[in-house]
Amino acid sequence: MKSRLYRWNNAWKLLFVFSITYLLLLPEYTLAGTPNISPNGVPPKPAFIESKEDLVDVQVIDRPTPSHPMSPQTTNVNIVELLRQLNETLLLGYLENLTAFGPRVTGTENCDQAAHYLYETFQDMGLVVRYHNYTDDVVSGSNIEATLYGSDSTDIYIICGHYDCVEAGSGADDDGSGVAAVLAAAEIMRNYEFVHTVRFVAFSGEEQGLIGSRHYAEDAYNNNESIVAVLNADMIGFAPTGSDGIKGKIYENSPSEWIVTFTQNISQVYADYIGIQLFSQGKTWGSDHYYFWEYGYDAVFYAEFNFNDYYHSGNDTIDHMNMTYATRFSRLMLATLAEMAQQSRPVLKITSISGGLGVTAQITNIGDENAQNVNAMIVITGGLYGLINISSTTKSAVINPEGSMQAKAMLFRFGKILITVTVDASNAYQTTKQAVGFLIGPVVLNVVSKT
Ligand SMILES: [Zn+2]
Repeated sequence: MKSRLYRWNNAWKLLFVFSITYLLLLPEYTLAGTPNISPNGVPPKPAFIESKEDLVDVQVIDRPTPSHPMSPQTTNVNIVELLRQLNETLLLGYLENLTAFGPRVTGTENCDQAAHYLYETFQDMGLVVRYHNYTDDVVSGSNIEATLYGSDSTDIYIICGHYDCVEAGSGADDDGSGVAAVLAAAEIMRNYEFVHTVRFVAFSGEEQGLIGSRHYAEDAYNNNESIVAVLNADMIGFAPTGSDGIKGKIYENSPSEWIVTFTQNISQVYADYIGIQLFSQGKTWGSDHYYFWEYGYDAVFYAEFNFNDYYHSGNDTIDHMNMTYATRFSRLMLATLAEMAQQSRPVLKITSISGGLGVTAQITNIGDENAQNVNAMIVITGGLYGLINISSTTKSAVINPEGSMQAKAMLFRFGKILITVTVDASNAYQTTKQAVGFLIGPVVLNVVSKT
């Protein structure tokens, strides 16, 4: 996370850059590979950002949201098995390794070494890993992406954090805690099969203005990737008191509210393993979820309830973290991710609306799970003087995957009609389709579906 504290940082940074430039101008000194210094000795862009105005604007048209999973109401034994494997020892190991590199400022050797460590760690887990390299005016660098392919779907669920940090310290909580959660989730989930694809991503360039995640979201958007949810963890390990240790924050925009509900249900259903109550905070630009919103993806940002007292200082160390809390928070994210990724579900589609004697609607389950307690309602309005307003419901206890049902409505009137078909099930999202037609007595002619 970022704040106005950077003002001081900037002053020191500028002084540093001027000194280096001065040295470069002396003939006897040659410093190879000093980045981002323009001929007049001034960095081309501010190195760190202080407000939303410093962020790059993205003009993006809305993209359609893929259908998303339903909030869990009951405990799933498979999820419990995963949660049991996420313990303090596992997290601590990753945190120690990450902080051992020292300050991981994007563009420095330390940061590159941390990137290499992440790449190798994911690779050792047997995941498909890549460097997602980005070039930017402010700073260039690499995100690390590891993929666990879904068995039966191309929908993508992302868990992420940023592995870079500020130069003042070794970024244990900001954001070693988030990256450790990502690594732990990968280490545990890799041994299981999930319906949907899961990506474990560590971004860099976060501290300079969400650079890495902006390029990542942009590329995902340009590749038309079906990212259903992004779970971003940034500072999830600080809780100095007992009451801080049972609360957490979640930031969301309105299309992403379903992820808030989903995660809150997870924390209730698995309370014995998680024990954190999440408080919804609304929007913020302050972490890597932000550009996913800008590119039309649903994303949330998880953070500790009590903001870290040692933020962006040399004291942001493991010593000042609460590992029990970090473990619980990581479990919350693991359970949320795994539940989303394993959920096969029915998807109801109204495949046709046709005329003839009355109105017939064909409904097909194009999902991969039985649809339970299906209700199909046909509403017909319009007619001569707009006097028609008829509704008819057809029920089906179960529709198997690829199975269908027919819903019918009979009537005897005249005139132009509007047909609205609405279908829902106890375990699927509601869907609606409309058509227009012409009614002569009991016969419906010229039925044309609206898009
Ligand atoms: Zn951060």
